[in-house]
Amino acid sequence: MSPPTKPAETCCLVDLSALRANLGTVRRLVGARVEILAVVKADAYGHGDVESARALCDEGVRRLGVATVAEGVRLRESGIEAAILVLGSVYPGDTVSLVRYSLDPVVPNLDLLRHLEAFGAEHGVDIPCHLKLDTGMGRLGLLPDGIEEWLPELGRLRAVKLQGIMSHFAKAEEPESPSCRGQLRAFRQTLERIRAAGLGLAPAHMANSAAVLGLPEAHFDMVRPGGMLYGIVSHPPMAEHARLAPALTWKTRVLQLKTLPKHSAVSYGGTFTTRRQSIIATLPVGYADGYKRSLSNKAAVLIRGQRAPVVGRVTMDLTMADVTDIAGVQPGDEVVLLGTQAGETISAEEMAGWADTISYEILTSISPHIPRYYIRNEAEPVSTGRLETVLPNAPTK
Ligand SMILES: *Cc1c(COP(=O)(O)O)cnc(C)c1O
Repeated sequence: MSPPTKPAETCCLVDLSALRANLGTVRRLVGARVEILAVVKADAYGHGDVESARALCDEGVRRLGVATVAEGVRLRESGIEAAILVLGSVYPGDTVSLVRYSLDPVVPNLDLLRHLEAFGAEHGVDIPCHLKLDTGMGRLGLLPDGIEEWLPELGRLRAVKLQGIMSHFAKAEEPESPSCRGQLRAFRQTLERIRAAGLGLAPAHMANSAAVLGLPEAHFDMVRPGGMLYGIVSHPPMAEHARLAPALTWKTRVLQLKTLPKHSAVSYGGTFTTRRQSIIATLPVGYADGYKRSLSNKAAVLIRGQRAPVVGRVTMDLTMADVTDIAGVQPGDEVVLLGTQAGETISAEEMAGWADTISYEILTSISPHIPRYYIRNEAEPVSTGRLETVLPNAPTK
């Protein structure tokens, strides 16, 4: 979406140069021989799947990962030509779409494998897929313990073409944990057995962002980063492994200012009461936009480069901030909910701490009805501090 002359007051800016920089970081960490499958599920973690996929493919990414067949179809219909792996939800009834749109399924169980083989044989089509092993996540995948049952079936496949063998970590952010070590061991052993049976020279892949960052032994032939491409980490200490550039800024503008006397209650339930005469800014954003209700009385927003605490309950479409200590606030002033303003930053990780969740949930919760505007300028350095170039109406300090 390109910015209209008057952009929405509440919007997200996505800096595509940050995606490019983060992709470069992944490349440096994994080396030239390891392929990168860029995960763009959940609307590219809220950043916009088509635009993000295009930016990444322009930088040489040849494989994308999505969660559902519908997400894959959307990318195809937008002209994306990279290989697309459907990581999560694939049902036997999706096979026609998989073939029609050249989407490669992850196969996590024998039922789907048999269905795909039968479909491919019946229609005379090859069905590329990636086999998923459950080495300890307890979610999707064939159990290594059942290998006697499923290994012979792999040998009989004709239409189904194994393009990858994969697994997924439960605790990649703790590389030394028994969980991680055990999963790596189980994956390696199962790979060996598949290969010893003369099968599965297909590339192996296991690493999500946390394993890209902190677990080099898990890089195998290909890695599957998601969050780090957008500059976020699921666990804040992971950020120490590499400098990532957060790509998204979420902003709005002051809708109304009012001076409330001491002892005034603010918002539903009166959970906040002014302790002094206070200037309260009302902002046009609320939980229906993905600004979580759990941020009530916990979060801060940036106005004129300073933090203003969110006071009272976040409501469906409006939120109040106390700007008493910030000089000169005017209606219409730019408010940064997430991102950087005049050198001060609220990261997704910090917001996640306030809302008792992880940064991934913060970003994927931003409602799709909030417009995303894209900053493409390749000549400029990675920064979110140039909103004025996109939003001509933004107030200057
Ligand atoms: C979401 C997902 C990833 C990416 O995880 P990040 O932590 O965002 O890097 C990788 N692999 C699978 C199977 C996934 O579902």
